[in-house]
Amino acid sequence: LAVKGVQALSPYQPGKPISELARELGLDSSEIVKLASNENPLGPSKKAIAAAESALTDLCLYPDGNGFDLKQKLSTRLGVGADQITLGNGSNDVLEVIARCFAGADSEIVFSQYAFAVYPLVTQAIGAKAVAVPARAWGHDLDAMAAAVTEHTRLVFVANPNNPTGTVNSSSAIEAFLGKIPEDVLVVLDEAYCEYMVGEEDPDGVSLLTRFPNLIVCRTFSKAWGLAALRVGYSVSSPAIADILNRVRQPFNVSSVALAAATAVLDDEDYLQRSREANTSGLKQLELAFDQMGLRYIPSSGNFVAVEVGPQAMDVYQALLAHGVIVRPVAGYGMPNHLRVSVGLPEQNEQFIDALSKALAAAG
Ligand code: PMP
Repeated sequence: LAVKGVQALSPYQPGKPISELARELGLDSSEIVKLASNENPLGPSKKAIAAAESALTDLCLYPDGNGFDLKQKLSTRLGVGADQITLGNGSNDVLEVIARCFAGADSEIVFSQYAFAVYPLVTQAIGAKAVAVPARAWGHDLDAMAAAVTEHTRLVFVANPNNPTGTVNSSSAIEAFLGKIPEDVLVVLDEAYCEYMVGEEDPDGVSLLTRFPNLIVCRTFSKAWGLAALRVGYSVSSPAIADILNRVRQPFNVSSVALAAATAVLDDEDYLQRSREANTSGLKQLELAFDQMGLRYIPSSGNFVAVEVGPQAMDVYQALLAHGVIVRPVAGYGMPNHLRVSVGLPEQNEQFIDALSKALAAAG
């Protein structure tokens, strides 16, 4: 019935919904702390809400299928042509369209062990062969990934920073890696969390596009821009690649409400700044608590951190749920001793830390 590989596919496991846990525990939703999906804890930008509300009067109309205003804003901000941008229903949509356009049942797709779960998913969905390259210190081993490229490789996915490990490769490492990849192999640099990186030396895939025509950079409005519910992501690539992606994507894959909110939030520099600051201090709060509890964690450049709680991680996860705290088990990524926790507001982090110490004590 289905394409080879689809039968073996395990579906993407989203974080447990707040309403579901509240029902199970007989609590009000406001009493649940969800730190499971790397969402922005600040709530949405007021400018984005106002724009989304204004767009409601046109609910009976199809959205602008080319996302003209959003592409214009992005093109100015990023210093690229609007014809280099492809919009998606979240960046997951763009990742999937890329795989469908440029790989097939006879291709290999390379990514790292512990890399973002959607890469194996889109690979299997088109019946391509997944080549998962062993990680180095939880991060992408770019040398080994370049060495894994064969004549059958069509795509390489690199998450920078990666989810769920939070590891990042430097600009110079990414550049050296791109230099080793044959021109007919496309490299997808997934920068979903790039806005959280604030140092001058931090990698910026868009600046590499002029030198590497086989590069596609993917970004999203779901994280630092705080619009996960609306599903808007995009890729930046050569105009030739964007042209192909734009032919294959669904014609109205981003809603008018989402387009309006994303266009407006790009004017809310203050919101982005607050997202970054809240994340930096929240990460510090979590790291300090882990240090005090004697727990190891993987230093993260994202808005989440993978903490090592030991082989009883699923019990700890369940015990956290019983305390009204939702985090994400990462056994499905081959990390059975870790839990991934998203950075929340200070009081949410505190509630998680408190529940974690109780859960660990109970788990012995
Ligand atoms: N890439 C990475 C590395 C991610 O962690 C995520 C979100 N979990 C995405 C892409 C997709 O995000 P979205 O579809 O919301 O843009």
